[in-house]
Amino acid sequence: MSCIELAEKKLMPTYARLPVVLVKGEGVRVWDAEGKEYLDFVAGIAVNSVGHCHPKVVAAVKEQAGKLWHCSNLFYTWPQVKLAQRLTELTPYQRVFFCNSGAEAVEGALKLARKYARSTSGREDKYEIVVARNSFHGRTYGALTATGQPRYHQGFEPLLPGFRYIPYNSPEALEEAVGERTAAILLEPIQGEGGVIPATPEFLRAARELASRHGACLIFDEVQTGVGRTGRFLAQEHYGVEADVVCLAKGLGGGFPIGAILAKEEVALAFSPGDHASTFGGNPLATSASLAVLEVLEEEGLVHRAQEVGEYLKKRLEEIGKDTGKLQEVRGLGLLLGAVTAVPARAVVTECLKRGLLLNAVKEQVLRFAPPLIVGKEEIDRALEILREALVCVE
Ligand code: PMP
Repeated sequence: MSCIELAEKKLMPTYARLPVVLVKGEGVRVWDAEGKEYLDFVAGIAVNSVGHCHPKVVAAVKEQAGKLWHCSNLFYTWPQVKLAQRLTELTPYQRVFFCNSGAEAVEGALKLARKYARSTSGREDKYEIVVARNSFHGRTYGALTATGQPRYHQGFEPLLPGFRYIPYNSPEALEEAVGERTAAILLEPIQGEGGVIPATPEFLRAARELASRHGACLIFDEVQTGVGRTGRFLAQEHYGVEADVVCLAKGLGGGFPIGAILAKEEVALAFSPGDHASTFGGNPLATSASLAVLEVLEEEGLVHRAQEVGEYLKKRLEEIGKDTGKLQEVRGLGLLLGAVTAVPARAVVTECLKRGLLLNAVKEQVLRFAPPLIVGKEEIDRALEILREALVCVE
């Protein structure tokens, strides 16, 4: 039986997968079981930040695997503490909690915000979470409730109480929704799954001002945008707005499962021992991998590169859009770009796949580009040749 046949029988039917079995990756390339090569412009959906099997990360994981794989958070380990220290050097946050995924980071951030809001205000009713429509924050119940897209909710109600949904990029709606009972405003600086839609500066500034005015936490979900993806370590830096709490995952481990909540000292101290925990969170293997990823980002100047190379990719996409008439708009920052298609995006993805390019469709008419941050101009040129052919043949 083939891998795909076996998967169809044995795995829960949760994913609409493309018919490819991947067996190997190196840099920006991956290979399938038949030996066919692909340029990977999905990168695990913004996960493989330093590419596949970067030698430095491989070496760090091998070394740690020979020393200590795991121990409970009942004890301390150096990789976890060093990673926390590094993250506090790279960002304006003083405290870190480690978990294993984006959804988990969001869950923990929501708990932290409610605890903080109650303890600072003394009000039991200060628990509301204001979120944006069209957002995506994950699939566990808190994160799912925060996700402002009804299609993800269908069949799973009742959701959590205490959430309010406002239109993204509407400072006016935010002003109306935020008040004395608000514990947190949770936003993506760029809505990723929502179609790669950047926030307007006015919207994020209004969120900052309202959160401060009402003693609520501003939480940025930077699970997709964080760790250099947009050309800054955190996407919030583009806006000159600082959240109180930031959620990270995806690119942080470069492919090893790790998530993190970063918080300002004062907010972080609302947690006391026993309030929150994770068995695997901050495990020595995952944190060693992540430390190596951050080293590679620095040594190879990848955050700055993401900005430069991202601008090149955006410009070339706009040219192709004009030439073919099939891309209507290109948006995003750094190496997180979305191209709005005049044809069904999934059909374009299928044509690209045949020709050796992995791409991802978000929504019906948006192609998402999130290649590893090490991607070079020649690889972009090759990928865009393939995209151009694919666009031409899809009606
Ligand atoms: N937040 C954002 C902004 C995301 O893009 C995602 C994943 N696409 C998540 C949270 C959930 O992350 P995970 O799948 O690791 O739980």
